[in-house]
Amino acid sequence: MKLKQRRLVWQLYPSYLLLIILVLLAVGLYVSGAMRNFHYRQTADDLRARALLVEQQLQGRLNNSNHDGLLPLVKRLGEQSGTRITIVLADGKVLADSHENALKMDNHGQRPEILQAFAGQQGMSVRFSNTLGQSLMYVAIPVYNKGQLIGSIRTALPVSNIDATLKEIYWKLIIAGLVLSVLLAPICWWLSRRLSRPLELMTDGAQRFSQGNLDIPLEVTGSVETRRLAAAMNQMATNLENRISREVEQRSEIETVLGCMVEGIIAVDNDERVIRLNPAAAELFAVSPQLNPDRPIQEVIRQAELQRFIRQALNQQEPLEEELVMHGSIKRHLHVQATPLTGNGDGRIGVLIVLHDLTRLRQLESVRRDFVGNVSHELKTPITAIRGAVETLLDDESTNVASQRFLQIIFKQSERLNALVEDLLNLSRIEQGDERGGWELSRELLSPILESARIACESLLVQQQINLQIDCPEQLKARINSSLLEQAIINQLTNAIKYSEAGDQVEIKVAELDKQISIQVLDHGCGIDQKHLPRLFERFYRADLARSRNLGGTGLGLAIVKHVAHAHRGEILVTSQPGEGSCFTFLLPRIATAKKSEHP
Ligand code: ADP
Repeated sequence: MKLKQRRLVWQLYPSYLLLIILVLLAVGLYVSGAMRNFHYRQTADDLRARALLVEQQLQGRLNNSNHDGLLPLVKRLGEQSGTRITIVLADGKVLADSHENALKMDNHGQRPEILQAFAGQQGMSVRFSNTLGQSLMYVAIPVYNKGQLIGSIRTALPVSNIDATLKEIYWKLIIAGLVLSVLLAPICWWLSRRLSRPLELMTDGAQRFSQGNLDIPLEVTGSVETRRLAAAMNQMATNLENRISREVEQRSEIETVLGCMVEGIIAVDNDERVIRLNPAAAELFAVSPQLNPDRPIQEVIRQAELQRFIRQALNQQEPLEEELVMHGSIKRHLHVQATPLTGNGDGRIGVLIVLHDLTRLRQLESVRRDFVGNVSHELKTPITAIRGAVETLLDDESTNVASQRFLQIIFKQSERLNALVEDLLNLSRIEQGDERGGWELSRELLSPILESARIACESLLVQQQINLQIDCPEQLKARINSSLLEQAIINQLTNAIKYSEAGDQVEIKVAELDKQISIQVLDHGCGIDQKHLPRLFERFYRADLARSRNLGGTGLGLAIVKHVAHAHRGEILVTSQPGEGSCFTFLLPRIATAKKSEHP
């Protein structure tokens, strides 16, 4: 139910008026009551005085048995004083009455005023007289003879006289009240306005503030309370203004920072609605940076991969990062990072997505890869030709010893060059496979692959007198690309053989772990210093440069192994102790994650 809204002045004014009328009424009632009592008391005193006078006039005529002349005297006294006088004997019998025939009057012994008089007090009563047919005030006094009660003298006056006087007073009071009300009405109005006016001014000011108009302060006038209220509201407006300008400043700072960022920023709430999107992100997805906030991300950015990533980030508490390929007019490579957005103690309110555009970098990498691939390919033919020519010259018996030595050097270096070119070609082949969207993987037995790796290294094993032991469950299968995995095992095995001493043992151990399959290649050779381990899988990184060159190493073998591991969504780990040997662990996922080019 809607309460009727009234202005304060229209609430105060009638209340004041009503209050004044009520006060006047109460005063009038009280004064009239007091007047009435006063008049009654006066009349009672008067009647008593008259009764005493009558007693004196009678001068002991009451105690005689002869009451002659009593009645005329009573009648005369009654007439003269305008008072009804009644003489009552001690037995209640009426002896004489100034206005009535005493013989016709009944016994007055039970009248309240007479009873009181017989009890020795002054009796008083106001009631309707049946005899005279009007309301009378009776006052009775006891009459004694030699200390003995012989009767009572009662005087009475009609109350109508008193009532007439009182009525006149009442009227005067009512008229005075009305006049006062009329006179006080404007004063009430003035008082009401005086109270309501500052509040109205304050309300107008507060409305101004709420509309954002904080420049015009409230007038500080009126009572102490209103002054304090106005001052407090002005202070509040100043604080609010400062705060708003600070917020605006901070906001524009954030806007500037976000606007200048090269990285795309998207803030998404827990319901997958866009909170914020910076110009870089807007440009990436060709949307307007001034888009309405709160729009679902699915509507704004129509990239299924990114939507999946955001959903995944919203479903977990930890930060998430991934590299995504966006398909559109141009294919874009993005590195995407999601961090939980936390409010002021309200828990997570969404996620912040930071997008780094790697397209240019990937293009350059691709150019580099193609270049390396092409160069290697082009180098292969002349190297083969040089090797063929040198081999022919070496076979020629007529070449002298010095020439033989130089030819040997050329042959060895062309072998190294060939190995290098082979490794480079292998690397670029693997990388091109990655770029195409991944390698084809299929479920295959592992032991035949290890066996063919052993066969490939057979001559080296014999040459270095190394004993190779392979420990692999016969029926163990994994999702692999057999040629890539074989290449990786050969590389590790070649290293293990190369960096071992003659007569050492090299082992290949395959084991099934919880979620992975591990293929370990262990040797008891020279080992690697700890400081080299973090960089060991980088291209051309060699822990022991001289040794590697001597043994015909290219510095690319482990880089190839790392790429093969990535192509299988696995990883390669190394542990080593100098002088004790090394252990390379190649981990393959047991349950292969779905990949675009994979066959289930
Ligand atoms: P390289 O052709 O020089 O062997 P790799 O990439 O295969 O290149 O290996 C990188 C470096 O790691 C090597 O130069 C060597 O110093 C070190 N290394 C690799 N495997 C072993 C191993 N089993 N024992 C000791 N050192 C090793």
